[in-house]
Amino acid sequence: MDNHGKFGLKKVINASGKMTILGVSKVSDQVAAAQKAAGQTFFEMADLTVKSGQYVADLLGAENATIVSSASSGIALSTAAVIGQGDVYHTYHHLTDRISKREIIIPKGHNVNYGTGVEVMVTLGGGKLVEAGWANECTPEQVEIEITDKTAALLYIKSHHTVQKSMLTIPQMSEIAKKYGLPLIVDVAAEEDLKKYYAQGADLVIYSGAKAIEAPSSAVVVGRNPYVPWVQLQNKGIGRAMKIGKDNIIGFVTALEEYLSNGSESGEHMIARLTPFIDQLNAISGLSAQLVQDSAGRDIFRASVKVTSDKLSALAVISALKVGDLAIYTREYQANNGIIEFDIRAVDAAEMTAIITKLQTIMAS
Ligand SMILES: *Cc1c(COP(=O)(O)O)cnc(C)c1O
Repeated sequence: MDNHGKFGLKKVINASGKMTILGVSKVSDQVAAAQKAAGQTFFEMADLTVKSGQYVADLLGAENATIVSSASSGIALSTAAVIGQGDVYHTYHHLTDRISKREIIIPKGHNVNYGTGVEVMVTLGGGKLVEAGWANECTPEQVEIEITDKTAALLYIKSHHTVQKSMLTIPQMSEIAKKYGLPLIVDVAAEEDLKKYYAQGADLVIYSGAKAIEAPSSAVVVGRNPYVPWVQLQNKGIGRAMKIGKDNIIGFVTALEEYLSNGSESGEHMIARLTPFIDQLNAISGLSAQLVQDSAGRDIFRASVKVTSDKLSALAVISALKVGDLAIYTREYQANNGIIEFDIRAVDAAEMTAIITKLQTIMAS
């Protein structure tokens, strides 16, 4: 099936990392087969929601979990859950005046734009976001002074998108939540450790399915009771507008099982795949390539390519890579320093050859 030809779309090689704007990640053959099998059968969907959630919770050593359509919906549904607290009236009238406890406290430096704003999703769930601290600082005291009888929950976002310095930790946030009897929601959409944040005391932990886990469009909310069933109750309310299909629920579980048994690609394996690629890059005149480790110290390696040509800048090469029928996306953060990075986590051998061929043409022009 040639969807690119059918709609007149460019073919894309994603050497930039897990990017939502390119479709995030690719599913394995086994996950695609699981989606197909589920798509061609029926389930009692309410039962599938509860039992697939419990199955995932058991795999992760958590009390409960529920599979949802996206991490964004996970934020909105968790917000609605902690405000409504299992009340069916609230589920049918989620913005009701009968409930005034709607404030969700977040460190100010965590109210970020990851494609949409965290605040947009909290508002969608009927929450009123209260920012604690300052853009570049949030201490435990600064969170505590925002707590009132209107506070419904605390929210913490762990991500490279947020301000990193002078921020309280998840264990500190969890301690405050316990002290005041409030639930703690944690959005760790792109993180790889599926147990750590629950163990640190978070009550609802949100992971995006298509990022680290490489599942189809989906997410999981891992957490404790009664919060998880309160999230599931939203399927009779605002959750209906964020419904996930049976195919993606089963696809998520299959991808999770693969992720738990194989993990992500190791740095060592990436180095082995990158070594011949870097040699080929160095054979192109005007480019000088070397192996680099992720700047945040994660077990991720990339090809860092310095554009040494006096005719073309790194920015010019980056735009030329996207022109034509095959658009090649790279990491552009260091382009101003004349450097292009290739992240090969979602790039196979044939695509590496295509990258080399296109670069040879660009550099010879
Ligand atoms: C990607 C991301 C999300 C959204 O994930 P979706 O599954 O695409 O909705 C939410 N929060 C953070 C921090 C993210 O990085």
